[in-house]
Amino acid sequence: MIKKIAILTSGGDAPGMNAAIRAAAKTAMAKGMKVYGVQRGYMGMLNDEIFPMDGGYVSGIIDRGGTRLLTARCLEFKDPKFRAIAAQNLKKRGIEGLIVIGGDGSYHGADLLSKEHDIKVVGIPGTIDNDIKGTDFTIGFDTCLNTILDAVSKIRDTATSHERTILVEVMGRHAGDLALQACIAGGGDGLLIPEMDNPIELLAFQIKERRKHGKLHDIVLVAEGVGKVQDIEEALKQKINTEVRSVVLGHVQRGGTPSGFDRVLATRMGAKAVDLLEAGEGGVMVGIENNKIITHPISFAWDGERSYDFRPDYELALLLAK
Ligand code: ADP
Repeated sequence: MIKKIAILTSGGDAPGMNAAIRAAAKTAMAKGMKVYGVQRGYMGMLNDEIFPMDGGYVSGIIDRGGTRLLTARCLEFKDPKFRAIAAQNLKKRGIEGLIVIGGDGSYHGADLLSKEHDIKVVGIPGTIDNDIKGTDFTIGFDTCLNTILDAVSKIRDTATSHERTILVEVMGRHAGDLALQACIAGGGDGLLIPEMDNPIELLAFQIKERRKHGKLHDIVLVAEGVGKVQDIEEALKQKINTEVRSVVLGHVQRGGTPSGFDRVLATRMGAKAVDLLEAGEGGVMVGIENNKIITHPISFAWDGERSYDFRPDYELALLLAK
């Protein structure tokens, strides 16, 4: 049985990463494993920033955003020469299992590490973007969604008072999940996401129709993957008579105390990752599908399209935006 495991967080931080670290560490300790923390993701693995973790390290972190282990990008990790050095830093301590909490970039590193160096690696999806194939939800998405909703409510006060059209750019990289769900949950009045055609003429038409029916404002959710919100603002100004403004929510979306949903999700995934290592499994990712914690080979994450069909929710959002 694997006796020593390490945990790292990699790529963009997401609220709930700490809850995953805590659950993995406590579960492993309960099984009698020795647990190590790796600071700054793959960069710290390469630079030998690896330390024995005790229970105290993970106490008081379940409600904290960000990641106590710190995170970093590490371009060197794309080079097999540097992966070999990093792997050796684990092996010299007798560490046989590694839990990587991060996005799909981090999964690529994890996959290569497990194939090249006989280290059992389990990936946990930690990103606000919800853009990982093989899981219905990623850790941090729900918290981020709620942060956006809070901002949308505030922005709407101004939009109404000044009778403006306000474009709100939200994160998500190439995925429209945050914008789509924020539009539905926030009562948004327009939506632009990369998964759908978004002709500016259609948005302009929708806004004009709303105004005919006495609406005083329009909040349009724009996924960052669609393009620069300032460009969309300029294009829209040419087509409607109302005053148009745009706001980029930016990094406020990444921080904050994790929601209950994200804490529970992270806890279940963290514990599952340890169960998998205990069973000798590696090269896998955990996910949640139909409220069950499941596993896939890590490469499943980039092998083909996500199963989520955006269209029904997109059409619902537009119907309710009228
Ligand atoms: P995320 O994990 O959130 O998608 P990145 O795409 O920045 O974030 O990836 C995080 C880290 O994972 C990178 O800094 C790099 O160390 C590693 N990584 C990303 N892509 C690869 C790859 N193709 N091969 C090896 N390592 C990779």
